[in-house]
Amino acid sequence: MQFNIGDVAVYLMMGNKLIQLVLMLIVAIFNHSASAEYSASKCKSLSNKKLYELDKVYIRDEFRIYYSSAEFYPSPTDFSRDTVPDKVINISKQLVAGRRIFSEVMGMTHPLSQPRYHQAKYIDVNLLSLSKGNGLAYDEVFGYLRHDAVNNDECVLRIDINSKISLGNLTPAHELFHLYQYGYTMFKSPWLLEGTARWAEFAFKSYRYSKQDLPKNEKELEEYLFHKTYDAQEFWLRIAGIVDPVGKTIVPQELRNFYYLGGQRLNVEERIHGADFIRELFEELGMEDKKVARANGWSEILWKESDQRNEIHNTSILNVLHKVLENHINEEHKHGELNDFLSIEISGN
Ligand SMILES: [Zn+2]
Repeated sequence: MQFNIGDVAVYLMMGNKLIQLVLMLIVAIFNHSASAEYSASKCKSLSNKKLYELDKVYIRDEFRIYYSSAEFYPSPTDFSRDTVPDKVINISKQLVAGRRIFSEVMGMTHPLSQPRYHQAKYIDVNLLSLSKGNGLAYDEVFGYLRHDAVNNDECVLRIDINSKISLGNLTPAHELFHLYQYGYTMFKSPWLLEGTARWAEFAFKSYRYSKQDLPKNEKELEEYLFHKTYDAQEFWLRIAGIVDPVGKTIVPQELRNFYYLGGQRLNVEERIHGADFIRELFEELGMEDKKVARANGWSEILWKESDQRNEIHNTSILNVLHKVLENHINEEHKHGELNDFLSIEISGN
């Protein structure tokens, strides 16, 4: 059955709110019950009022940045209404720089190239007024009903960013790194994901070696790592400095010369500390979670949210971390804190 989504969009622009809602529902139903071939390549479609209200889009490579003209150009007579706001362009610049650093410099697999996300075509970035925090990255692929019929309903990955963030705020790069993480692994422990996403932000600011020692025993492991979220960055910064004190991953000059509109530098660092280690960690976690899935009889990529976050996986993640660290240990480390950290065994959850 053929269904012309463009026609619906025209009605959507014309009708009142109730008609709009009914039509949105019809589109959602049609998308859901289309032919087998169609559904094989399509993902679940959602309608979301907040996203639907974002009536403008700026597309830069794989990123589609959605924003609201009512927010950015409150006056309907604003002559610049049809130009893309600087903030939108600047966010796209950070995202492109982030992608190039994570993929080209660090050698990580782009989320859109991961099997888990084979359906997704774009990374949609929604500039919204968020009630909590500056950003959120979603780990599932969906299609969203959009104002613009051309961009409607594609399977996408989603990032929401607080439209109030200031220039140079590293939320876009941080959230993008979450998509890289999700592409590799189903493990969703905050100390792992938030800690390493904070570490990733240091591609855009001077690296600092953390003053906090690595955990020496199981008690410290719980206290200084497993119970942390963003603050777990201290652990990852410390590890990065121990395994890679000089920062042997060099960022090409060309990427370091990125500027925001207005002339401020993106501050891309010359060296990244611990890049190989972090990439190997996520590669290994991607293999370990498949073992966990098999052992539990779960699908490889469709875990319940509670299973993804379950603290029981801390043991598996720690074992992988130990294994990857073993590849980076040298004579100098044999009697130091890294050795103590590698000797910690968890007695069981
Ligand atoms: Zn985060």
